[in-house]
Amino acid sequence: MEPFETTETMEREELRELQLERLRALLPRVRDAVPTYRGRWEEAGVDVDAIAALDDLARLPFTRKADLRDTYPFGLFAVPPEQVARIHGSSGTTGKPTIVGYTGEDLDLFATMVARCLVMAGARPGMKLHNAYGYGLFTGGLGLHGGAERLGMTVVPVSGGMTERQVTLIEDLRPDVICVTPTYALTLCQAFRERGVAPEEISLRYAVLGAEPWTEAMREEIDAGLGVRATNIYGLSEIIGPGVSGECVEARHGSHLNEDHFLAEIVDPETGAPLGPGEEGVLVITTLTKQALPLVRYWTGDITSLDETPCACGRTLARMATIAGRTDDMLIVRGVNVYPTQVATLLGEVAGLTSNYRLVLRRGATMDEVEVEVEAREGTDRHTQDMASHLARLIKETIGCSMTVAVLDPGALPRSDGGKVVRVLDQRGEPTALADQA
Ligand SMILES: [Zn+2]
Repeated sequence: MEPFETTETMEREELRELQLERLRALLPRVRDAVPTYRGRWEEAGVDVDAIAALDDLARLPFTRKADLRDTYPFGLFAVPPEQVARIHGSSGTTGKPTIVGYTGEDLDLFATMVARCLVMAGARPGMKLHNAYGYGLFTGGLGLHGGAERLGMTVVPVSGGMTERQVTLIEDLRPDVICVTPTYALTLCQAFRERGVAPEEISLRYAVLGAEPWTEAMREEIDAGLGVRATNIYGLSEIIGPGVSGECVEARHGSHLNEDHFLAEIVDPETGAPLGPGEEGVLVITTLTKQALPLVRYWTGDITSLDETPCACGRTLARMATIAGRTDDMLIVRGVNVYPTQVATLLGEVAGLTSNYRLVLRRGATMDEVEVEVEAREGTDRHTQDMASHLARLIKETIGCSMTVAVLDPGALPRSDGGKVVRVLDQRGEPTALADQA
C-alpha cells in the first residue's frame, strides 16, 4: 500500500463530485431494500431519484441510534442475510447491543479505511502492531487487526486486560505501534514505570488511540510515558467501526475524515440545520459505499467541527476537531449544558493533577450538585486545596457553573483495565432537573 491513496489528496471539488456520484447510487438502493427508509422518505415527500446536489441531502430526515434499536437486530440491513459475512455490536449501556453487519465487500472497505488511518498515524508495512483493543463484538479489536494485516504489518492480537502480560509482551516482542484506548494507555504507562522501564527503553514509536474521548494533557502523558507519538483514530460501529477518521502524525491537529466513503455534515444540535466549516455542531454521517448496513444521515451525537484547510501532511480530507462532547453525555447543571469532556480538558491546565477524573452527581439540599473527583500526581508538591480551588475556578470561568472539586491521592480513582472508564457516577436516584438529556 502506498503512503496515500489517490482519493486522500484529490482536489476538494473533485472529491465532492465523487461523493455526489456515490450518493446518487446509494439512495435508490437503500430505498428499494429498506422499508423503514422507503416509508420515511415517502412521508417527507422526497423523491431520492431527484437528488441532484449534495445540499439536497438536508431534505432527508436523520437516522438515529433509536432507529437501530427499534428495528433490532437486522431491520435496517439492505442485503439478504446470507450475504452478511460478519456481525459486530456496540455495547449498550442498558440492555441489548446495537447490531451491525458487513458483507465481504464491507469488510474489505473496513480493512482499507483502518489501514489508511494506521498510515496516517505513522505505521508502515513490516512494522509490528501490539493490538490491545478488545476482540469480540466490539469493532476495535478485529477492526484494527484487519487494517494492520491489510497494510502488511505483523499483528500481535493481545486484546485488553492482564496488564502485566501486556507489558511483558511489549518488552519481549518489541512492537513499533500500539493501539489501545487512551485510558488504558495511561495504565500501561504506570505499569512500565512501576517495573522501572524507562520510556526510551520501550520499543513503541507510535500509539493509535481511540474508542473514547481524550485530551491534549493525556496525549502529553502518553507520549512521555511510552516514548511514542500518539494520534487519534475515530469511528463508531454504526458507521463501520474505527477508521472513519484518523489523525496524521505530521500535524496531530484534527482527524482526517475518509470522506470518499463517509459523507460528513455538521448540524445544529437543537434545530438540525446545516452548519458551515469551522462551526461546532453534531456530526452526521452518510455511508456512501457500505452494502450490508448503509446509513443515511446518521446522527452520531458527537459534537465537533470540520476544517477543510490544507494540512501539513498533504491530505485534502477535512479534519474533525477533537470531540467536544456527546449529545448523549450532556448534563444540564443549573441550566448550563455541560459535557464531561469539557472538565477533562481543564485538568491539563492545573499543575499537579493527573488526567484521570470522575464526575459524581448528588442530590443537594436545594439543587443537584456535581463533585469533580481528580487525582494528585505522584510526587507533586502542590497542596490539594490549591489544586482544588484552581480547578473549581477554571470550571466556573470556562464552563459557567459551579462544581466542588475533591483532589484524591495518586491512584485513588479506578483505572482502565482495557475497557472504558466510567466518568459520570450518578448518585441521585430519581431523575431531577440535572438529569442526562435523553
Ligand atoms: Zn494531515
